[in-house]
Amino acid sequence: MATINSNYDKLSAGYLFPEIARRTKEFLANNSDAKIMRLGIGDTTEALPNSVIESIKKRVEQLGNTNSYSGYGSSEGEAELRNAIANSYAKLGANIAAEDIFVSDGAKGDSANIQSVFGVDNIVAVQDPAYPVYVDSNVIAGRTGKATDGNYAGLVYMPCTAENNFFPTLPDSKVDIIYLCSPNNPTGAVANKEQLKTFVNYALKNKAVIIFDAAYAAFIKDDNLPKSIYEIEGAKKCAIEINSFSKTAGFTGVRLGWCVVPKDLEVENAEAGKIHGLWTRRQNTFFNGASNIVQSGGLAVFSEQGQKEVSELVNYYMENARLIKECLNAKGLKTYGGENAPYVWLQTSNNLTSWEFFDKLLNECHVVGTPGAGFGPSGEGYFRLSSFGHREDVICAIESINKNLNI
Ligand SMILES: *Cc1c(COP(=O)(O)O)cnc(C)c1O
Repeated sequence: MATINSNYDKLSAGYLFPEIARRTKEFLANNSDAKIMRLGIGDTTEALPNSVIESIKKRVEQLGNTNSYSGYGSSEGEAELRNAIANSYAKLGANIAAEDIFVSDGAKGDSANIQSVFGVDNIVAVQDPAYPVYVDSNVIAGRTGKATDGNYAGLVYMPCTAENNFFPTLPDSKVDIIYLCSPNNPTGAVANKEQLKTFVNYALKNKAVIIFDAAYAAFIKDDNLPKSIYEIEGAKKCAIEINSFSKTAGFTGVRLGWCVVPKDLEVENAEAGKIHGLWTRRQNTFFNGASNIVQSGGLAVFSEQGQKEVSELVNYYMENARLIKECLNAKGLKTYGGENAPYVWLQTSNNLTSWEFFDKLLNECHVVGTPGAGFGPSGEGYFRLSSFGHREDVICAIESINKNLNI
């Protein structure tokens, strides 16, 4: 008799994006000539860099020829790509060995899958608000109880609000696994070295592990801000880092990322190297490697030309962010993020709930954004606007906000 994994039943319904779609559809039904402008999506819109396209084409040609054809590769990724990624860490002053880098088909999968190497009784702490995958994947794994009012029993929420500059204070109780995301989705906050150091020191002291999501590291333009947790002394003993080509290079549909699991990583009941071995085993069992075609595209990102093109892409989105932020500030709204991150996080006006603000922005301006409450309880009262979009569309949206938003 087969039974289900009943942890799935604990998940609060996938409420955020379906509800946004429902309200947008309802608005359009009543306002059929309105043109909706979307500043809600966390997806890239601009074309892939030319060097990436060329590299992918070349690999496809090779596969079309028996003499240069290749089949299964290493599940950890191609050596050239792992070396190039290791090299990019060296440029940050972080010494990461290529064999500690595991190439994957994206950071979303890694951020959910990595917890399979940890015991089910580990206590998990998340920033609140957070990228929903961290929470939901741990619910499915059975590390939480049921949710009441959006709070899962057994999960430690670390509030990130304007009061603490959107970076959490250390948990009061002892936790084992800590998810940190910087630059942050959704708040756009970027942790400085001192802030990360407090968590690295906590993790070293408590033999906890930090899972650091650096998917937006390429958006950091301020040289004083860390792009990797491994810029912090001691982090190799206590941190796993996840990164992605998705937002940096427009790979959201192409799919490529990586995960660093250092051999130095130590946990309570195992010697250094054990977690690295478990992750190797997990990947070898469940995963046959990222597409070889796509890995060639990823390698091109690290070429001189690739770096230049990626930097232009990032600058394009960051100019969108600047325009959005400038418009909101001119309206008298309080904004955060949008400077070294592609998300602008705003405080709703007149203490509106984030869903009330969603309705207001939709009704008055025909602009769709993302209510903060959808990312966790502490997102209430905040709202996310994304800088991923074509410039013309962003300009239409901000012109409409400028003209029509009634504060
Ligand atoms: C977009 C995003 C990712 C990237 O996921 P991929 O699977 O690599 O596309 C990872 N983490 C966060 C917080 C994100 O917003």
